Formats: sequence, structure tokens, C-alpha cells
Amino acid sequence: MKKHNFYAGPSILSEYTIKNTADAILNFAGTGLSVLEVSHRSKEFQAVIDEAMALVKELLDVPEGYSVLFLGGGASMQFCMVPFNLLAKKAAYLETGTWATNAIKEARLFGDVDVVASSKDANFTFIPKGYTVPEDADYFHFTTNNTIYGTEMRYDPDCKVRLVADMSSDIFSRPVDVSKYDLIYAGAQKNLAPAGVTIVIVRDEALGHVDRPIPTMLDYRTHIKKGSMFNTPPVLPIFSALQTLRYYKQLGGVAELEKMDLAKAAKLYDAIDSSRMFEGTVTDPADRSIMNVCFVMTPEYRELEKEFIDFAGERGIVGIKGHRSVGGFRASLYNALPMESVNVLIEAMKDFERKH
Ligand SMILES: *Cc1c(COP(=O)(O)O)cnc(C)c1O
Repeated sequence: MKKHNFYAGPSILSEYTIKNTADAILNFAGTGLSVLEVSHRSKEFQAVIDEAMALVKELLDVPEGYSVLFLGGGASMQFCMVPFNLLAKKAAYLETGTWATNAIKEARLFGDVDVVASSKDANFTFIPKGYTVPEDADYFHFTTNNTIYGTEMRYDPDCKVRLVADMSSDIFSRPVDVSKYDLIYAGAQKNLAPAGVTIVIVRDEALGHVDRPIPTMLDYRTHIKKGSMFNTPPVLPIFSALQTLRYYKQLGGVAELEKMDLAKAAKLYDAIDSSRMFEGTVTDPADRSIMNVCFVMTPEYRELEKEFIDFAGERGIVGIKGHRSVGGFRASLYNALPMESVNVLIEAMKDFERKH
């Protein structure tokens, strides 16, 4: 049976990415060797990382003066690398979910942290607005898409201080004005590649303004100087990332991807809003994520949630169980998920509603 993969991460990758990765595991770039057993210093792998960096720059229209890095350690490593490299005295953070909370915790190890606003008391069901970022902050950090709670900031805020964003779960789902940011990071396993590589886009000029010694591996300048080859980079995830980036380019780039993502999300939210059995968890429609759609059953049907997961599973629908801190359901509609899968989910919802 065809599977419809709604997992939040690791998550669906395009067939193009999976097939080309599988092929390269058997025979990489005509070398007669697996991509798993070739030196990262070989000319064949150098060509992979060079093209991947160039495609990130092209797809996101990264201006001059920025470096693109492929690092290990996951997005969570960036929670400490960012303040290690950028926090001299004080940083401002917006608390919109678990990942933001984790980032705040790490930043506190390095200086003062001003949490400018938080929606924690409302279980992160909305994006706070009307907050002020102190002008003496070294930077302002926010999470563009809150993977667990299904809220998203699909815009690049105007800010007088350096802007830093965790774009792990919505990078490549819209054009981004990179020039507004000093640093963007994104773990690969939501919209790009297998887990193991994190993309960092950093304004070179933002670095070198803190006095503390920085361990070599945690200093962005190490990786800029060595083109992400200071040590062995995550070779296989980078290879897969290149496949996905090529695929995104073939599809017409991030503006085209955004159109497809908007259409998928609109269709699913419409189905949720027009149903008597399901309801969305995000209160303000403007805050709703187009990547992770969170919904629950209305109180009178709530005891049927488990039954619906099994019902959907019989139709090949996988990964819709909501995160334990929200409950209910979460359908992740990443770039590689086809509209067909959204249609199958909506059909299942309607059929289940008819059944009860
Ligand atoms: C998944 C996720 C993370 C954590 O990524 P790891 O690579 O597991 O460290 C951080 N931020 C956001 C927004 C995420 O979705």
C-alpha cells in the first residue's frame, strides 16, 4: 500500500532524493565506490559540497558577505553556538515553543537573556505580538516555525538589532530576505535531508565581537575558513541535501514551493474548520503553520482520537499523532509531501466523521 508520510521529523523526502541517495550508496559519481566510503577530501565529494553551498545561496538569494556552512550537532547545537559566538552581554529571545525554550536555556549560560514575550501560559497556541526588542541587545532570536505547536512567523521582522532565526522546520518553504538576518540555522531532517547536518547561513561581519575564548569546533570562523571541512562533515546527509536542493531548483525554487505549500495547508485547514469532529489548536489563523498542522477532536468526540489514528493507518497514513505536549494530531506538510497525501487524509477525516 502507498504510504502517506506526515511525520514531523525526520520526515518525508522526495523520491528524487531517496533514489539518488540509494544509487550513490552503491556507486558514487562513477567512482565504483559507495558515497559512504569515499574521502571527504576527494574531488568527487568536494564537488558535492561546493554545489550544495552554491544552491543554498541561489535558492535563498543569499547576498555577498555571508557564508553557508554544513555542520554536525543538529539544530540543538546551534542553541549554544549562537550565544557562544554572538552574545557579548545581552540577547533578546522570543519564546514561542519548546525549541525556543531550549535555545533560551543555553543562551543564559553566556549572558543576560531578555525574553521579550512568551506564549507559554497558553501552551504556545499563538505567536506573541506587540513586543519590543531592546536596542542594546546583541541580537534577537526567534523560531520561524514551531514544529510542535503548529505556529509560524512567515515574515522577516524589522529589527534594529542583529536578527537570528531557527528555521529548522520551514526553511525553503518561502523566499526569505536573508539580508535582514545575521544568522539563520536549520537542521536538515525537516525539509532537506536525513538527520545529521545543519545548515548555517551567517553574516561574516557578525563574528569576532565577543571576548570569550571559543572552542575551535564551536567557532563559526573555523568552519568558514575551512569551507565546512575542518573535520569530516556529515557526508551522506550533505549528499542527500544536494539532491533535494537540485530538486527544489527544478521545481522552480522557493517561490514555487511556497505556492504548493500554501495550497496544501489551505486545503487541510479548510477541511478541519468545516468539520464538526475536528478543530485546529492554533487560535489566530494568521499564526497557523503551513508546515505542521495541529488539530484535535472536539471535546464530545475526543475519546475517538486513538481510533482515528488506526482508521487512518489502514489507508497508509503515517505519522499524524500529535506531539505529547499538544495531543491530538499533527500533519506535517513538508515540501516533499504531495497534495495527493493531503487529499487522502481529508478523505479519511470525512469518512470517519460519516461513520460516527
Ligand atoms: C527539530 C527542531 C529542532 C531540533 O533539531 P535537532 O536537529 O534535533 O537538534 C530545533 N528547532 C526546530 C524549530 C525544530 O523543528
